[in-house]
Formats: sequence, C-alpha cells, structure tokens
Amino acid sequence: MLKDTIAAISTPLGEGGISVIRVSGDDSIPLVDRVFHSKIRLPDAATHTVHYGHIVEPGTTEKLEEVLVTVMKNPRSFTMEDVVEVSCHGGIVSVKKVLDLLLLQGIRLAEPGEFTKRAFLNGRIDLTQAEAVIDLIRAKSDRAFKVALKQVEGKLSKEIKLLRHQLVELMAHVEVNIDYPEHDVEEMTNVLIRDKCTLVKTEIERLLHTAQQGKILREGIETAIVGRPNVGKSSLLNELAQENRAIVTDIPGTTRDVIEEFVNVGGIPLKLLDTAGIRETTDIVERIGVERSKSALAEADLILLVLNSNEELQMDELVMMKQLAEKQTIVILNKIDLPRRIDLDQVRAYFSDERIVELSLLENRGVDSLEKAISSIFFEGKLESADLTYVSNVRHISLLKQALKSLQDALDANADYVPIDMIQIDIRAAWEQLGEIIGDSVGESLIDQIFTQFCLGK
Ligand code: GDP
Ligand code: ZN
Repeated sequence: MLKDTIAAISTPLGEGGISVIRVSGDDSIPLVDRVFHSKIRLPDAATHTVHYGHIVEPGTTEKLEEVLVTVMKNPRSFTMEDVVEVSCHGGIVSVKKVLDLLLLQGIRLAEPGEFTKRAFLNGRIDLTQAEAVIDLIRAKSDRAFKVALKQVEGKLSKEIKLLRHQLVELMAHVEVNIDYPEHDVEEMTNVLIRDKCTLVKTEIERLLHTAQQGKILREGIETAIVGRPNVGKSSLLNELAQENRAIVTDIPGTTRDVIEEFVNVGGIPLKLLDTAGIRETTDIVERIGVERSKSALAEADLILLVLNSNEELQMDELVMMKQLAEKQTIVILNKIDLPRRIDLDQVRAYFSDERIVELSLLENRGVDSLEKAISSIFFEGKLESADLTYVSNVRHISLLKQALKSLQDALDANADYVPIDMIQIDIRAAWEQLGEIIGDSVGESLIDQIFTQFCLGK
C-alpha cells in the first residue's frame, strides 16, 4: 500500500520562475513516461539524468508544457523510491494541468509530508531529521534555518545515538552481573552504573540547557515595543521590518503573514506582539492602567522601551521604567542626532548600561548595538560561536526530561543498593525514551501526527 505512486507540486505556489512536480513510488517512471514526449523513453534513462521534452495528453498531439524531467532511481533518492521530478516553467495554471494529467494516469496526490514520511519509513532519515525538515520550512531567521539544517544533517541524532550506545553497554554489563551475581562483581557494577548514568545524565542536562535558546530561535522572542507618542516606535518597527525582508525569501512555505509578524535582529527572530496595535496606538504608556496593555507586557519575553533622548523624561516614562526594571527590557534612547536633553542618570537608576542602547533611527546609527544587547540577554552574548545543536522541539524536550528522570531513578536506586535487576528497568526506560526521540520505538499515530504538520509537496 505504501509504495503506490504519489505526486505533488513541491515548489511554493505563486509566480516564481520554475515549478517542480515531484513523483515518487514504484511506478513513477513508467507512469510519467505515459505523458512525456522526448527523444528518450524514461524507463531507459539512467539514474540521475535530466531530459528535455513535452507533456502531451495520451492520444493527442497537443503540447501542454515544455519540461525538464529528472529521473532518480531507488535507493538514491530522497524517498529511497523511484523519483521523477518534472520542472515546468509555464506558471501555476499549466503546472496544475500537468499535475492533473499525472493524477489521471493512476498517480495519487500526496498527503502533506508524505514524501518526508516515506523517507523516514524507508530508513533514509530518522525522526529528528524529518522534524527538522518541518523546521526548515518554517524557519523564521537565518539562524533558525542553520539550526534546522544541522538537525537535518543528523547532528542531534548522532548525539542521542552516542548516549544510547553508552546505556546499551551499561545494560550489557549489568545483564552479565544478573547472571553471575558474585559479591565483588556487584560492587564493580554499582560503580559502573553510577559513573555511566551520571555521564549520560550530564550530557542530557547540557542538551536541555540549549532548549531555551532553541525555542527562541524556533518561535521567536515575544517582543513588545512601547513608549510615548513620537519617540520613534514606528520608525523602529520599519527599520527592523526592512532588514527582515531580505532574509525570509526563497524558503518554501513561509507565508506573508508569518513574515510580517516576525522581524530579524542579527539573525535573532523577534515576534512582535500586537504589531498592528503598536502601529495604530502610539500612546501605550498613557494607557498603562488599561488591563490589556498590561497583559501584553506580561506576556512579552522582551520589552523595547523607546525614549526620545532629545526630551526630558516625562512622569509616565518614569513610572514605566520602574515597572519594567524587573523585566527583560532594553531602553532605546532614540534621536541621538539631536542635542541630548534626557537625564541619563535617571535611566541608569533602573537599568544597567548593557540594557541601554543609544541610536538614531533617522540617521540609521547604532542599530547594531540593539542586536548586541538582545544577544547578550538571550544568548549570554555567545550566540556567534555557539554550537548549533539546539534542542528546540517540544517532543524532544519532553523525552529528554523523561530520560533524565529515569536516570535519576536509577542513580537513587543504585545509591540505596536496590537489587540490580530493578535498576536495570530504569536504565532501560531511559534508553527507550532516548530512542523515541530518533523514532526508534514510536507508534503509528505519533508518526502520522508529526508528518501532517508538513505542507503539501514535502
Ligand atoms: P512613534 O509615534 O513613537 O511611532 O514615532 P515615529 O516613529 O512615528 O516618529 C515620530 C517622529 O520622530 C517622526 O517624524 C520621525 O521622523 C522622527 N524620528 C524618528 N526617529 C528619529 C531620530 O532618530 N532622529 C530624529 N531627529 N527624528 C526621528
Ligand atoms: Zn511547502
């Protein structure tokens, strides 16, 4: 059943130069060949070759579309099945016509994520890699993209596999001990359990430590921009949005509204809260008593408080600073191209120097220091050199935590001299939980759930 032949448009719908239809399955080559007119018959084509020709409805001579067809024979393809890719250049209408014609030949329209699911089920990629494909499609910044890419390459899986290997070795030792329970062997086993479990536990803790940063890269830092009217909030928003436009470009599946909700500051995605509200309501400070704006601030991971350095601080701004001092706030002193009238000491009373950024949005000066300030809050300033294996997937985090707990149980039991075959159960549980991350022991329903998150054609 699984090997029936499926097809979908795998490039984003829209204008664009070329659209690619991907076909995968046992009969993909002969079925595409039915509608493909060329000097060569596709079943005779060598693997990984490209062929020029036309799509023609069987029984007619009308050329529907001029195409390039790529043949990739199993197992050297993304799905490890026979794959044919048809590149059309005639815009969306003719691509859809070609797809419809293929579907008439007995090819089935692929479900969302089905190509990737097949790659997983056929052993081409593991589950973390498949999930990373979702992240790639949805990546909201350069950096999130790179993190996802590493995961596609299998970096996280490799680390998980190493940890599991440690546990397998340990279990083997323990098993021997259960079979030959002599006193001095048992003591050695106790030491071994303690050392190995501690080692694996430390490593899992390190992975979990990256989770917060991973989440930020994946979902963005929820950010609110606040300040009195005319301080430059909209200018800031425009400046940030402008930089952003260059970044999210050719990644398939990213939609307009997603792009507009997110801005990038040096590769760190900021998710702007209530952007429309900021655009229209320039007086959030004045509405400080209003519950709604309060809760918007409570929700935020990061608050950008914009002040006009050309003016003295107003009473409501002082109130605001007092309230925000406890939160993750960056104070932006805008308009430094104008003479300074603000009393910096009043700001310093609430915020350390790293949290104060001076810039001019008019002259486009100092915006990079905002980037540094954000990076120092969320990445302890180490973002550039940081290892790119971030754990960012909620499912992975939850399983890592479970494995951590199992290992702790094993360590506790070991310290209490609980019989070793009981401890073995905990170690085994940790091994299985880690296995679930890479898809070693996951059920059908979870697999379906993961793959339906894809968009069509992936
Ligand atoms: P908002 O009301 O807080 O959104 O402020 P705007 O972004 O609309 O800016 C209010 C005014 O200040 C506009 O006329 C901007 O051109 C001006 N402005 C913004 N940034 C600067 C700056 O850095 N220097 C100067 N001199 N003017 C600026
Ligand atoms: Zn897509």
